[in-house]
Amino acid sequence: MATRVHIQVRGIVQGVGFRPFVFSEANRHSLRGNVFNNTSGVLIDVEGEDADIAQFVERIKSNPPPRSVVDAVECTNHLGPAYYDTFRIIETNTAGQPIVSISSDIATCQDCLGELFDTANRRYRYPFINCTNCGPRFTIVEDVPYDRARTTMREFRMCDACREEYENPHDRRFHAEPTACHRCGPQLSLLSSNGRPVSGKPGEDALARARGLLQAGNVVAIKGIGGFHLACDAFDDEVISKLRRRKYREDKPFAIMAASIEEIRQHCYVSPEEECLLLSEFRPIVLLERLDTSQVPRSVAPGVNTLGFMLPYAPLQHLLLEGLGGPLVMTSANISDEPICYEDGDAFGRLSGIADFFLLHDRRIHVRSDDSVVRAYAGRAMMLRRSRGYAPAPIKTAFTFARQILACGAELKNTFCLTRDDHAFVSHHIGDLENLETFNSFKQGIEHFSRLFNIHPEVIAYDLHPEYLSTKYALSLDDNLTRVGIQHHHAHIASCMADNRIDGDVIGVAMDGLGFGSDGRLWGGEFFVANLVEASRIAHLDYVPMPGGAKAIRQPWRMAAVYLQRAMGDDYLKLDLPYVSELDHRQLNTLQRMAATGTNSPETSSIGRLFDAVASLLRVRNFVNYEGQAAIELESIADKECSAGYEFRISEDGRLLGAEPVIQRVVEDLLDGVSPAQVSAKFHIGVANLIASQARRIRGEHRLNRVALSGGVFQNMFLLRKTSQLLARDGFEVFTHSRVPPNDGGISLGQAAIANARIESGRI
Ligand code: ZN
Ligand code: ZN
Ligand code: FE
Repeated sequence: MATRVHIQVRGIVQGVGFRPFVFSEANRHSLRGNVFNNTSGVLIDVEGEDADIAQFVERIKSNPPPRSVVDAVECTNHLGPAYYDTFRIIETNTAGQPIVSISSDIATCQDCLGELFDTANRRYRYPFINCTNCGPRFTIVEDVPYDRARTTMREFRMCDACREEYENPHDRRFHAEPTACHRCGPQLSLLSSNGRPVSGKPGEDALARARGLLQAGNVVAIKGIGGFHLACDAFDDEVISKLRRRKYREDKPFAIMAASIEEIRQHCYVSPEEECLLLSEFRPIVLLERLDTSQVPRSVAPGVNTLGFMLPYAPLQHLLLEGLGGPLVMTSANISDEPICYEDGDAFGRLSGIADFFLLHDRRIHVRSDDSVVRAYAGRAMMLRRSRGYAPAPIKTAFTFARQILACGAELKNTFCLTRDDHAFVSHHIGDLENLETFNSFKQGIEHFSRLFNIHPEVIAYDLHPEYLSTKYALSLDDNLTRVGIQHHHAHIASCMADNRIDGDVIGVAMDGLGFGSDGRLWGGEFFVANLVEASRIAHLDYVPMPGGAKAIRQPWRMAAVYLQRAMGDDYLKLDLPYVSELDHRQLNTLQRMAATGTNSPETSSIGRLFDAVASLLRVRNFVNYEGQAAIELESIADKECSAGYEFRISEDGRLLGAEPVIQRVVEDLLDGVSPAQVSAKFHIGVANLIASQARRIRGEHRLNRVALSGGVFQNMFLLRKTSQLLARDGFEVFTHSRVPPNDGGISLGQAAIANARIESGRI
């Protein structure tokens, strides 16, 4: 018997080839009716035999298109007959409330790549080729529902050939919203740094000239998918130091783009997991172990043993790198820590002193999005910066959010998060909220996400730090909203729990830079018994002063002096250590007075500051040029074969963990001529042992066996591996980060999870 059913499909089902898939499945099952995008996803209206409809629904659930994510398939039966005679695809319905998910930007697919290099294809060497399975999405979407008229592609009128493909349900480009070709789509142009066109003809000329300029040692600003890159020859030491000088970026590693996996293997060790990450459609920057034989100059990534590689993800990048003979530095186009440039005018304004040339195109970028950064750990991805390719796809949570929440995140590496149902829409990487431009980007981002995902938050979660711009923003909002202040390290632990979809009580270990504590001091070496509602602090690194406040973060020698004085007494100035002889004793004395009187010396329990102190004592670094640099370089010199570790002092009540004995042993070893590689390793292992012993003690008292590891210090792979090994050997179940970063980029997810749990438990 023939029946008629409405099938509402929810999830990421727009811009991913869903309707053509429905069309061919409907034909296969002899169904009649239609399909269209609506504001909830895709709505299918079908008539046919019961059994055929059942099979059809089964296919939608079990075998949807590769880029789609089906969250729900809801059927409405008992409809009156419509007597359809065929199956058709209908244009987007604009009524109702837009609540669809928008796909992330997707790397160029194999089919498109084939056409890009096929001399017979009409899109041969077209730098903006794309189809339903690939191309820009999130970065060009201005509004929902997703169709061409609401993207920046609306400025390009399709030619007849493109329109024919676009309207043909059997074509790979059926409703590929950004589709384009040489005749009708975006074009390249090459300009000098003062904005004058370089080549006579746009297009292929511009591309060929840009390649030549790169090979000749120039810095070229290249407009990409989520913003501009600054590109240069990755083998050319001279242009790299020129770029560093102009960009005010002394040491922070640059990312590199290579044409193929084979090329990357000439410079780095690539495991099967890492290969998967490099080749995935997200195309992140993957941090890889550098080979000694690599010819990439050290100036690309000074002081570290890793290189950040990525593969091309846009057709323009494939064309640029093809046959170039070597990789390109491809770093975010900005000065210092400002947000990445994404608009042409702004790019000329900000980059004209950095780039020698500009390779532009005339497709507008609506939302800026940096390249994502990941690492392979324990057989899966560990996100370090979650942005292009991943955002704005939601993080699915194990629970359903009772209310719509906006979590404002932290200050550094900021992301925000909006919630609905079991979705946490964690934003792309916003950056460090220290300047106006980043703060504007944060506010615009929140507005854009609210509109795209139709979320109107009633609850605002924020960090306790009164000086964070994200906190000030939260406090400045409408009075009718419910506000929830959340302790930074509790948010870290909750973020790790939500990342792993776990609930209940855990042993929470937060090893971090700095976060505002509930006692008003700066925390960062914390052991909790925590759940999503609350966290009780069981033990922490003993407080030490941070003379000079923020200055002590940029100048690790200050923390070294504080710890030396604590461990060795006032006589530490007589020690025969290079650290002591190289520093100005007057300065050290002033510092000591500041610390003793508490003048501009906030107290901290941060383990990040202890890493700084040890790095300075080992003469790794007295001053840092980017966040975490001293600790990162301390890790990279550690002898990974070492197995001995220093021991911390534990107070009688077990609450305070003192580093004095660690510093005493560091000094002894240095005086005995033990190598910095050994000392660094023994320090790392000492910290891992401390974490394991605290976890055992808390297990004994609280009967908990699950440990959640979070905080920026767990980006340190040597520490993370050692700690996880020790905990696993002791029978603990260990949870680490994967979908969101262990650093402050994950804070917004943790805040949202805690706010929700407090709502559910009636605390709000
Ligand atoms: Zn494609
Ligand atoms: Zn065309
Ligand atoms: Fe943090």
